[in-house]
Amino acid sequence: MLILLDRDGVLNRDYPDDYVKSPDELILLPGVGPAVARLNAMGWPVAICTNQSCIGKGIIDEAMLALIHRHLRERLARDGGGRIDEIYFAPDPPWAPTERRKPGAGMLREAMAHFRVAPADTVFIGDSLVDLQAGTTAGCRRILVRTGKGMKTQAAGLPPDVQPVTIAESLPDAVERLLAGFQATAEA
Ligand SMILES: [Mg+2]
Repeated sequence: MLILLDRDGVLNRDYPDDYVKSPDELILLPGVGPAVARLNAMGWPVAICTNQSCIGKGIIDEAMLALIHRHLRERLARDGGGRIDEIYFAPDPPWAPTERRKPGAGMLREAMAHFRVAPADTVFIGDSLVDLQAGTTAGCRRILVRTGKGMKTQAAGLPPDVQPVTIAESLPDAVERLLAGFQATAEA
């Protein structure tokens, strides 16, 4: 199984109408380090697929994003030993999106090709409709977490074309459900 994660609102605090612009602004959500560590322990690769239009807009540069991601990896390691195997980001500004910018499926396809995992064995976990749309286009299973923008996304109603979607309270809850489902399948 390959686990793909949106970043903001899944692993760390989402700032509505703003961006994580420095390592200091990256605040981990509760329990995410141990949750990622549980995925690592299963031997499942874990990768992030994140839209970062703050780069395309010139708000931060790629060097700053690299610092933010180094900090993210350090925080996850310290908080329960979580390890992210790969980070994909789309720098495209909203007015010039490529196939990599979600709801495009480009980053998800790159990750599946890199880890040589089929869409049917890939799960995308996100908090926004664009995450569910990207997962649908890529043919992955989809989990919506209610952290970040998740409650709003759920309240707005999930369009039929992104269904079925599993709803989880948070990343730790999503991981709990994945492991329970995996156990059930293994015992069947
Ligand atoms: Mg998000």
